[in-house]
Amino acid sequence: MNIIVLVKQVPDTTEIKLDPKTGNLIREGIESIMNPDDRHALEAAVRLRESMGGRVTVVSMGPPQAIDVVTEAMGMGADRGILLSDRAFAGADTWATSYTLGKAMEKIDDYDLIICGRQAIDGDTAQIGPQVADYLSIPHVSYVFGVEEISEARMVVKRRLEDGFEKIEISLPALLTVIGELNVPRYANVSRLIAACGKKAPIDVWNAADIGCKTSEIGLEGSLTHVIKTFAPKFKRQGEMLEGDAGKVIGTLLHKLHENRII
Ligand SMILES: Cc1cc2nc3c(=O)[nH]c(=O)nc-3n(C[C@H](O)[C@H](O)[C@H](O)COP(=O)(O)OP(=O)(O)OC[C@H]3O[C@@H](n4cnc5c(N)ncnc54)[C@H](O)[C@@H]3O)c2cc1C
Repeated sequence: MNIIVLVKQVPDTTEIKLDPKTGNLIREGIESIMNPDDRHALEAAVRLRESMGGRVTVVSMGPPQAIDVVTEAMGMGADRGILLSDRAFAGADTWATSYTLGKAMEKIDDYDLIICGRQAIDGDTAQIGPQVADYLSIPHVSYVFGVEEISEARMVVKRRLEDGFEKIEISLPALLTVIGELNVPRYANVSRLIAACGKKAPIDVWNAADIGCKTSEIGLEGSLTHVIKTFAPKFKRQGEMLEGDAGKVIGTLLHKLHENRII
Protein backbone atom coordinates (compact mmCIF):
# COMPACT_ATOMS: atom_id res chain seq x y z
CA MET A 1 0.00 0.00 0.00
CA ASN A 2 1.69 3.20 -1.17
CA ILE A 3 0.27 6.19 0.65
CA ILE A 4 0.80 9.92 0.17
CA VAL A 5 0.10 12.22 3.11
CA LEU A 6 -0.38 15.96 2.59
CA VAL A 7 0.93 18.05 5.47
CA LYS A 8 0.80 21.81 5.87
CA GLN A 9 2.96 24.05 8.05
CA VAL A 10 0.73 26.47 9.97
CA PRO A 11 1.20 29.15 12.66
CA ASP A 12 0.75 27.69 16.16
CA THR A 13 -2.35 29.75 16.88
CA THR A 14 -5.98 30.00 15.88
CA GLU A 15 -5.97 33.70 16.74
CA ILE A 16 -4.67 35.08 13.48
CA LYS A 17 -3.27 38.63 13.73
CA LEU A 18 -3.17 40.75 10.58
CA ASP A 19 -1.08 43.80 9.79
CA PRO A 20 -3.76 46.52 9.55
CA LYS A 21 -1.87 48.31 6.74
CA THR A 22 -0.91 45.42 4.46
CA GLY A 23 -3.53 42.85 5.49
CA ASN A 24 -0.73 40.26 5.71
CA LEU A 25 -0.48 37.66 8.46
CA ILE A 26 1.85 38.74 11.32
CA ARG A 27 4.17 35.75 11.75
CA GLU A 28 6.70 37.34 14.13
CA GLY A 29 6.75 35.64 17.50
CA ILE A 30 4.48 32.84 16.37
CA GLU A 31 5.97 29.36 16.11
CA SER A 32 5.11 27.17 13.14
CA ILE A 33 3.80 23.64 13.58
CA MET A 34 2.45 20.74 11.56
CA ASN A 35 -1.29 21.29 11.05
CA PRO A 36 -2.96 19.25 13.85
CA ASP A 37 -5.31 17.20 11.59
CA ASP A 38 -2.32 16.26 9.41
CA ARG A 39 -0.69 14.45 12.36
CA HIS A 40 -3.69 12.12 12.42
CA ALA A 41 -3.46 11.66 8.63
CA LEU A 42 0.20 10.70 8.96
CA GLU A 43 -0.44 8.35 11.90
CA ALA A 44 -3.16 6.57 9.90
CA ALA A 45 -0.78 6.14 6.94
CA VAL A 46 2.10 4.83 9.07
CA ARG A 47 -0.23 2.31 10.79
CA LEU A 48 -1.50 1.08 7.40
CA ARG A 49 2.09 0.72 6.17
CA GLU A 50 3.00 -1.18 9.34
CA SER A 51 0.18 -3.67 8.80
CA MET A 52 0.19 -3.93 4.99
CA GLY A 53 3.72 -2.95 3.90
CA GLY A 54 4.44 -0.35 1.22
CA ARG A 55 5.66 3.23 1.50
CA VAL A 56 4.50 6.50 3.06
CA THR A 57 5.44 9.68 1.18
CA VAL A 58 4.76 13.03 2.78
CA VAL A 59 4.23 16.12 0.59
CA SER A 60 4.05 19.72 1.69
CA MET A 61 3.79 22.92 -0.33
CA GLY A 62 5.22 26.01 1.30
CA PRO A 63 8.20 28.31 1.73
CA PRO A 64 11.69 26.79 2.37
CA GLN A 65 11.10 26.69 6.16
CA ALA A 66 8.24 24.22 5.61
CA ILE A 67 11.03 21.62 5.34
CA ASP A 68 10.67 21.45 9.15
CA VAL A 69 7.27 19.72 8.95
CA VAL A 70 8.56 17.33 6.29
CA THR A 71 11.51 16.46 8.57
CA GLU A 72 9.18 15.98 11.55
CA ALA A 73 6.97 13.72 9.43
CA MET A 74 10.02 11.60 8.61
CA GLY A 75 10.66 11.38 12.36
CA MET A 76 7.07 10.18 12.84
CA GLY A 77 7.54 7.36 10.34
CA ALA A 78 7.26 8.64 6.73
CA ASP A 79 9.68 6.93 4.31
CA ARG A 80 10.08 9.80 1.88
CA GLY A 81 9.51 13.55 2.01
CA ILE A 82 8.84 16.08 -0.74
CA LEU A 83 8.68 19.85 -0.29
CA LEU A 84 7.10 21.83 -3.12
CA SER A 85 8.73 25.22 -2.91
CA ASP A 86 9.05 27.95 -5.50
CA ARG A 87 8.51 31.71 -5.38
CA ALA A 88 6.08 31.21 -8.26
CA PHE A 89 3.74 29.30 -5.89
CA ALA A 90 3.33 32.39 -3.65
CA GLY A 91 -0.13 33.95 -3.38
CA ALA A 92 -1.89 30.74 -4.39
CA ASP A 93 -5.54 30.38 -3.44
CA THR A 94 -6.97 26.92 -2.78
CA TRP A 95 -7.55 26.30 -6.51
CA ALA A 96 -3.91 26.98 -7.44
CA THR A 97 -2.68 25.09 -4.34
CA SER A 98 -4.75 22.02 -5.31
CA TYR A 99 -3.48 22.17 -8.89
CA THR A 100 0.13 22.31 -7.67
CA LEU A 101 -0.35 19.44 -5.20
CA GLY A 102 -2.18 17.48 -7.93
CA LYS A 103 0.76 17.91 -10.33
CA ALA A 104 3.09 16.53 -7.63
CA MET A 105 0.77 13.51 -7.14
CA GLU A 106 0.95 12.90 -10.91
CA LYS A 107 4.73 12.98 -10.78
CA ILE A 108 4.82 10.55 -7.83
CA ASP A 109 2.30 8.45 -9.80
CA ASP A 110 2.59 5.19 -7.84
CA TYR A 111 0.02 5.64 -5.03
CA ASP A 112 -3.00 3.72 -3.72
CA LEU A 113 -4.24 6.23 -1.19
CA ILE A 114 -3.85 9.96 -0.41
CA ILE A 115 -4.63 11.12 3.14
CA CYS A 116 -5.07 14.76 4.19
CA GLY A 117 -6.22 16.51 7.31
CA ARG A 118 -9.82 17.71 7.25
CA GLN A 119 -8.89 21.37 7.59
CA ALA A 120 -5.90 23.65 8.12
CA ILE A 121 -6.12 25.83 11.25
CA ASP A 122 -5.00 28.96 9.35
CA GLY A 123 -6.71 28.85 5.93
CA ASP A 124 -9.62 26.87 7.38
CA THR A 125 -11.35 26.19 4.07
CA ALA A 126 -11.26 22.34 4.07
CA GLN A 127 -11.20 22.61 0.27
CA ILE A 128 -7.78 21.16 -0.56
CA GLY A 129 -8.55 17.45 -0.10
CA PRO A 130 -11.73 17.37 -2.23
CA GLN A 131 -10.14 19.64 -4.86
CA VAL A 132 -7.01 17.48 -5.20
CA ALA A 133 -9.23 14.38 -5.58
CA ASP A 134 -11.25 16.20 -8.23
CA TYR A 135 -8.09 17.22 -10.10
CA LEU A 136 -6.87 13.60 -10.09
CA SER A 137 -10.36 12.23 -10.92
CA ILE A 138 -10.29 9.84 -7.96
CA PRO A 139 -13.05 9.28 -5.35
CA HIS A 140 -12.79 10.89 -1.92
CA VAL A 141 -14.40 10.68 1.51
CA SER A 142 -14.19 13.57 4.00
CA TYR A 143 -14.48 13.59 7.83
CA VAL A 144 -13.10 10.04 8.14
CA PHE A 145 -12.70 8.80 11.72
CA GLY A 146 -12.27 5.05 11.22
CA VAL A 147 -10.96 2.49 8.74
CA GLU A 148 -13.11 -0.65 8.95
CA GLU A 149 -11.69 -2.78 6.12
CA ILE A 150 -8.96 -2.36 3.56
CA SER A 151 -7.55 -4.42 0.69
CA GLU A 152 -5.43 -3.60 -2.36
CA ALA A 153 -8.48 -2.51 -4.37
CA ARG A 154 -11.04 -1.12 -1.91
CA MET A 155 -11.66 0.12 1.60
CA VAL A 156 -14.56 0.74 3.98
CA VAL A 157 -14.33 3.88 6.11
CA LYS A 158 -16.46 5.54 8.77
CA ARG A 159 -17.34 9.17 8.19
CA ARG A 160 -18.52 11.51 10.97
CA LEU A 161 -21.82 13.33 10.51
CA GLU A 162 -23.37 15.92 12.84
CA ASP A 163 -25.81 13.41 14.30
CA GLY A 164 -24.18 10.02 13.61
CA PHE A 165 -21.87 8.38 11.11
CA GLU A 166 -21.84 6.79 7.65
CA LYS A 167 -19.95 3.73 6.47
CA ILE A 168 -18.69 4.19 2.93
CA GLU A 169 -17.07 1.68 0.60
CA ILE A 170 -14.63 3.27 -1.80
CA SER A 171 -12.42 1.90 -4.57
CA LEU A 172 -8.70 2.68 -4.63
CA PRO A 173 -6.87 4.85 -5.49
CA ALA A 174 -8.81 7.31 -3.37
CA LEU A 175 -8.35 10.34 -1.13
CA LEU A 176 -9.48 10.66 2.49
CA THR A 177 -9.64 13.73 4.70
CA VAL A 178 -9.46 12.73 8.34
CA ILE A 179 -10.47 14.13 11.72
CA GLY A 180 -8.75 13.93 15.11
CA GLU A 181 -10.98 11.13 16.43
CA LEU A 182 -9.24 8.71 14.05
CA ASN A 183 -6.20 7.96 16.24
CA VAL A 184 -3.61 9.27 18.69
CA PRO A 185 -0.53 10.40 16.71
CA ARG A 186 2.87 9.17 17.84
CA TYR A 187 5.75 11.49 18.75
CA ALA A 188 8.68 11.78 16.36
CA ASN A 189 11.40 9.23 17.07
CA VAL A 190 14.74 10.89 17.85
CA SER A 191 16.94 8.57 15.76
CA ARG A 192 14.56 8.90 12.79
CA LEU A 193 14.67 12.69 13.22
CA ILE A 194 18.47 12.71 13.22
CA ALA A 195 18.48 10.57 10.06
CA ALA A 196 15.94 12.94 8.44
CA CYS A 197 18.29 15.90 9.09
CA GLY A 198 21.27 14.15 7.47
CA LYS A 199 22.52 14.72 3.93
CA LYS A 200 21.34 11.28 2.77
CA ALA A 201 17.78 11.84 4.01
CA PRO A 202 15.23 10.89 1.33
CA ILE A 203 13.79 14.42 1.16
CA ASP A 204 13.45 16.20 -2.20
CA VAL A 205 12.61 19.81 -2.92
CA TRP A 206 10.68 20.24 -6.16
CA ASN A 207 10.00 23.54 -7.90
CA ALA A 208 7.35 24.44 -10.47
CA ALA A 209 9.43 23.14 -13.41
CA ASP A 210 10.13 19.83 -11.64
CA ILE A 211 6.42 19.01 -11.58
CA GLY A 212 5.61 20.49 -14.99
CA CYS A 213 3.36 23.30 -13.73
CA LYS A 214 2.08 25.90 -16.15
CA THR A 215 2.95 29.35 -14.71
CA SER A 216 -0.53 30.56 -15.63
CA GLU A 217 -2.01 27.94 -13.27
CA ILE A 218 0.08 28.56 -10.12
CA GLY A 219 0.54 31.25 -7.48
CA LEU A 220 -1.33 34.51 -7.73
CA GLU A 221 -1.67 34.25 -11.52
CA GLY A 222 -3.36 30.84 -11.34
CA SER A 223 -5.70 31.86 -8.51
CA LEU A 224 -9.38 32.20 -9.33
CA THR A 225 -10.10 34.19 -6.17
CA HIS A 226 -8.40 37.37 -5.06
CA VAL A 227 -8.40 38.90 -1.60
CA ILE A 228 -9.93 42.37 -1.62
CA LYS A 229 -9.70 42.97 2.13
CA THR A 230 -8.64 40.97 5.15
CA PHE A 231 -9.54 41.74 8.73
CA ALA A 232 -9.72 39.97 12.07
CA PRO A 233 -13.16 40.14 13.69
CA LYS A 234 -13.28 42.42 16.74
CA PHE A 235 -15.05 41.05 19.76
CA LYS A 236 -16.57 43.71 21.98
CA ARG A 237 -17.50 42.62 25.46
CA GLN A 238 -19.96 44.80 27.32
CA GLY A 239 -20.80 44.38 30.95
CA GLU A 240 -23.88 45.68 32.72
CA MET A 241 -24.50 45.57 36.44
CA LEU A 242 -28.07 45.05 37.60
CA GLU A 243 -28.66 46.29 41.12
CA GLY A 244 -31.62 46.57 43.48
CA ASP A 245 -34.39 44.27 44.60
CA ALA A 246 -33.54 40.61 43.77
CA GLY A 247 -37.01 39.85 42.32
CA LYS A 248 -36.91 42.86 39.99
CA VAL A 249 -33.29 42.18 38.99
CA ILE A 250 -34.12 38.59 38.01
CA GLY A 251 -37.10 39.80 35.96
CA THR A 252 -34.95 42.39 34.15
CA LEU A 253 -32.22 39.78 33.56
CA LEU A 254 -34.69 37.32 32.03
CA HIS A 255 -36.12 40.04 29.81
CA LYS A 256 -32.63 41.01 28.57
CA LEU A 257 -31.68 37.40 27.88
CA HIS A 258 -34.91 36.95 25.84
CA GLU A 259 -34.37 40.22 24.02
CA ASN A 260 -30.88 39.16 22.96
CA ARG A 261 -32.13 35.67 21.98
CA ILE A 262 -29.84 33.98 24.51
CA ILE A 263 -32.73 32.00 26.01
C1 LIG B 1 -7.35 34.46 -2.56
C2 LIG B 1 -6.35 33.75 -1.71
C3 LIG B 1 -5.05 34.19 -1.68
C4 LIG B 1 -4.12 33.55 -0.89
N1 LIG B 1 -2.86 34.00 -0.85
C5 LIG B 1 -1.94 33.40 -0.09
C6 LIG B 1 -0.59 33.86 -0.01
O1 LIG B 1 -0.23 34.84 -0.63
N2 LIG B 1 0.30 33.19 0.76
C7 LIG B 1 -0.09 32.09 1.49
O2 LIG B 1 0.73 31.49 2.20
N3 LIG B 1 -1.37 31.64 1.44
C8 LIG B 1 -2.30 32.26 0.68
N4 LIG B 1 -3.58 31.81 0.67
C9 LIG B 1 -3.93 30.67 1.50
C10 LIG B 1 -3.71 29.41 0.70
O3 LIG B 1 -4.43 29.40 -0.47
C11 LIG B 1 -4.21 28.26 1.56
O4 LIG B 1 -3.43 28.28 2.74
C12 LIG B 1 -4.04 26.94 0.89
O5 LIG B 1 -4.69 26.91 -0.35
C13 LIG B 1 -4.59 25.82 1.74
O6 LIG B 1 -5.94 26.08 2.05
P1 LIG B 1 -6.41 25.88 3.52
O7 LIG B 1 -5.38 26.46 4.42
O8 LIG B 1 -7.80 26.38 3.63
O9 LIG B 1 -6.34 24.28 3.68
P2 LIG B 1 -7.50 23.24 3.96
O10 LIG B 1 -8.23 22.96 2.72
O11 LIG B 1 -8.28 23.65 5.16
O12 LIG B 1 -6.53 22.01 4.33
C14 LIG B 1 -7.00 20.67 4.31
C15 LIG B 1 -5.83 19.74 4.23
O13 LIG B 1 -5.19 19.88 2.96
C16 LIG B 1 -3.78 19.68 3.10
N5 LIG B 1 -3.09 20.92 2.74
C17 LIG B 1 -3.54 22.18 2.73
N6 LIG B 1 -2.58 23.02 2.32
C18 LIG B 1 -1.49 22.28 2.07
C19 LIG B 1 -0.17 22.58 1.65
N7 LIG B 1 0.22 23.82 1.38
N8 LIG B 1 0.70 21.57 1.50
C20 LIG B 1 0.34 20.28 1.76
N9 LIG B 1 -0.89 19.95 2.18
C21 LIG B 1 -1.79 20.93 2.33
C22 LIG B 1 -3.54 19.32 4.56
O14 LIG B 1 -3.61 17.92 4.70
C23 LIG B 1 -4.74 19.98 5.26
O15 LIG B 1 -5.05 19.39 6.50
C24 LIG B 1 -4.52 32.45 -0.11
C25 LIG B 1 -5.85 32.01 -0.13
C26 LIG B 1 -6.76 32.66 -0.91
C27 LIG B 1 -8.20 32.18 -0.91
